[in-house]
Amino acid sequence: MTSDIREFIKDKKRIVIKIGSSSLQHKETGDLDYTKIEVLVRELCNLRNQGKDVILVTSGAIAVGKKAIGLNKLEQEKGHLGIKQACAAVGQAKLMMIYQKIFAEYNQVAAQILMTKDTIVNEFNRENAENTFSELLNLGVIPVVNENDTVATYEIVIGDNDTLSAIVTGLTGADLLILLSDIDGLYTDDPRTNPNAEFIEVVEHLTEEHLQMGKKSTGSSVGTGGMNTK
Ligand code: GLU
Repeated sequence: MTSDIREFIKDKKRIVIKIGSSSLQHKETGDLDYTKIEVLVRELCNLRNQGKDVILVTSGAIAVGKKAIGLNKLEQEKGHLGIKQACAAVGQAKLMMIYQKIFAEYNQVAAQILMTKDTIVNEFNRENAENTFSELLNLGVIPVVNENDTVATYEIVIGDNDTLSAIVTGLTGADLLILLSDIDGLYTDDPRTNPNAEFIEVVEHLTEEHLQMGKKSTGSSVGTGGMNTK
């Protein structure tokens, strides 16, 4: 973490950190980047050791499942929703196993929370989720959150983890949301395709022009969201 970021985080008590699938994988192979995961978890444990409440929102279930099953791109596209859900069921368990192992190495306890749109729009469910988060954080546990892709069909899908992390931030009354991404931030255009795209450091007020700059593309075949959502 750079010293600027450390300074900014100093006074924050409850922090939500979101990491996307493309930031967890090696670009060339789609396999997990264990070094990145290890560094991420170590930083989270360090924040926890400073007495802060930490919540991780992580993607990667579909990506990890896809690799575990040995699915190629065509097979994934052909099967669409059902296949994605099957991949998520396999991948979510594997992903948690990896997180649990590294959190345990740093002496922290992690919990899994899987959410759907129903968790938020249904008042009763929302209250339950709020209570669970609150109890876990009181107990010093680090909640690890993802969308429940295995059952999230069209009607109850949140859709992307950028949105999910914003929902979790509101639900838990966190005072900081950090979106870790494979891109530095907002550019006037997609810098992967336009070399003249300029970086915009701070957006004070969101305008229609800013919204046009953000693209939907994610640079990943398994992630969703993109700069548009951010
Ligand atoms: N929930 C999906 C997964 O874990 C990813 C959603 C997203 O990338 O925003 O694979």
